[in-house]
Amino acid sequence: MNEKLHSLKKEQQELPAYRARKQIIQHIQRLRTAIIIGETGSGKTTQVPQYLYDARLHQNAVIAITQPRRVAAISIAQRVSEEKQCNLGELVGYNVRFDNMTSACTKLKYMTDGMLLREAILDPLLKKYSIVILDEAHERTIHTDVLFGVVKAAQKKRNSLNRKDVSLKIIIMSATMDVDNFSSYFGSCPVLYLEGRQFPIKLYYSPEHQSDYSFAALVTVFQIHRQASPDEGILVFLTGQEEIEATVKQIWDISKELAGEAPPLCVFPLYASQPPIVQLRVFSPVPKGTRKVIVATNVAETSLTIKGIKYVVDSGMVKAKLFNPSSGLDLLKVVRTSRAQAVQRTGRAGRESPGSCYRLYTEQEFDQFRPNTLPEIQRCNLSGVLLQMLAMGISDIVNFDFIDKPTTQSIINALDQLNFLGAVEKTDKIQLTAVGKKMAAFPLDPRLAKVILVAKDMNCLEEILSIVSILSVDSLVYNPQTRREEAVAARKKFESAEGDFMTYLNILRSFKASAGNKKWCRENFVNSKNANMALEVRRQLRGICQNQGMQFTSSARDSNAIRKCLVGGFFMNAAELDKDGNYLTLSTRKLCSIHPSSSLFNCKPAYVIYNELVQTTKCYMRDVCVVDPDWLYDAVPTYFKKK
Ligand code: ADP
Ligand code: MG
Repeated sequence: MNEKLHSLKKEQQELPAYRARKQIIQHIQRLRTAIIIGETGSGKTTQVPQYLYDARLHQNAVIAITQPRRVAAISIAQRVSEEKQCNLGELVGYNVRFDNMTSACTKLKYMTDGMLLREAILDPLLKKYSIVILDEAHERTIHTDVLFGVVKAAQKKRNSLNRKDVSLKIIIMSATMDVDNFSSYFGSCPVLYLEGRQFPIKLYYSPEHQSDYSFAALVTVFQIHRQASPDEGILVFLTGQEEIEATVKQIWDISKELAGEAPPLCVFPLYASQPPIVQLRVFSPVPKGTRKVIVATNVAETSLTIKGIKYVVDSGMVKAKLFNPSSGLDLLKVVRTSRAQAVQRTGRAGRESPGSCYRLYTEQEFDQFRPNTLPEIQRCNLSGVLLQMLAMGISDIVNFDFIDKPTTQSIINALDQLNFLGAVEKTDKIQLTAVGKKMAAFPLDPRLAKVILVAKDMNCLEEILSIVSILSVDSLVYNPQTRREEAVAARKKFESAEGDFMTYLNILRSFKASAGNKKWCRENFVNSKNANMALEVRRQLRGICQNQGMQFTSSARDSNAIRKCLVGGFFMNAAELDKDGNYLTLSTRKLCSIHPSSSLFNCKPAYVIYNELVQTTKCYMRDVCVVDPDWLYDAVPTYFKKK
């Protein structure tokens, strides 16, 4: 144990941030707002909060450190609690949606940006905190962007209101970014640059366009693997869970065939929706003489730093949420990264020694990438965040102090959506209705919050809570590549002719009935972690319902009532079958199909609602439910009259 502690201390002292420790403390001591820039892995996230705490700059209040991703919040809190030699949840804790590991003695609180924003609804002045660190600011998530304005306003108010209160310091931390924009937004505040470690990196471009980047990645990994010394790790950037899991499996299979010809290899997937325990595995050392290969999403771009990486293989692709304000459609789509992202990814190869980066695109293609990633607030549906802003009492959204404004059209669209959901009313100013206030109490997408509120009047709150919980966690089921058919056959018994939402409900019910039995889960290819998480989410949502004095009712399996409730929130995500057998969304007449993973894949119901649209080779509706067109009209006559 002592040895471990010793090596932790040593690692800490070798970080670039350590050398700048005194300077950081002095800098922040005299400033209200500061920006700290440093390369990924220099120790910003793990070390800076500890320096401030050790120097007692927190004045006995809490230091909040926001992260765009829950995985980063959890794994970094874990690491810092080890460095501070305390149990997680004591001095060092984390708070992410549906998972709060903090206590009254927590002073270093790692949290998602979404959670801090949620806290601001109850306390817009964030009085619990003496220091708010907005970390990974370059990611420009929608929540961090809104927080910029919220903490700036809180700081101003707290300084003017009560001099006895603890003042609020704001620290912006980021890898390379558009510093001038940030500094001028925060009143020309000074910027501290951490001296990073960056060794030269050899860049290789693909000589020609790659139509199948995951295949190209596979080939490249084995080119490197056959030549490089086994202690040199490879980090591959792909886009999403399915693709990553498939690639990991292929790498594993090929490496077994190569036994004897190349060193042994350990391959790890890394993506946001993994359970934290699984994610932490990527940090663990592999046996000597074995190569470490990590296949990751952009989570490994800046938020998590893994040691021993000498080679980066970059697909140049990322999965992004896109919203088209003119069509009102939210889409998940695999797109090109920005040049800034590509540079970040490349940088991962040269943190400890010179490295190499293989770009699976041509140099001409790279030149066509957009220079910077568009802030999420300019490409996402704003309805969720607007609901929260309105709940905080910010009613003049258009004139809110955004660092970069969303388009007026997207604000209008979001307000329209909230209006159709019955959450806002426009009198002389825009404000939340009683329904809207209740919706804002749920840490959920407004559509899901609305479904819960509808359910209490339709006598099926229990069932709806289950469905909403399932939609808030990752997939309840898994389909191993080699046993896909077996998995589908095993789960046939849960399938509902009315679609996926009802199927999920059946699975969760049976999971509960089996009391999470491991054998049952294995036989039915049910992911017990995610199913347990769904039950935990359900418990928490039930608590919120209880606070709102709702009656818990059950429809005793009346599926019509359940599906009518779902329509109450998802009417904007509806599609109808045309005479040629294609689906068209009702809102914008976009051509789409039922996703192959859906239990309705081979069926052609006349009307459906869906959870989300995913664009791959085609536009797919994911999580689909059969509905009666009359329900759609009855749910919101004004919405359908307009069309
Ligand atoms: P930055 O925020 O500047 O990118 P971090 O503070 O996140 O840097 O990381 C500093 C160092 O701590 C990294 O080199 C990383 O390898 C190490 N580290 C961070 N989290 C963990 C962890 N969970 N396990 C092992 N090492 C970690
Ligand atoms: Mg960091």
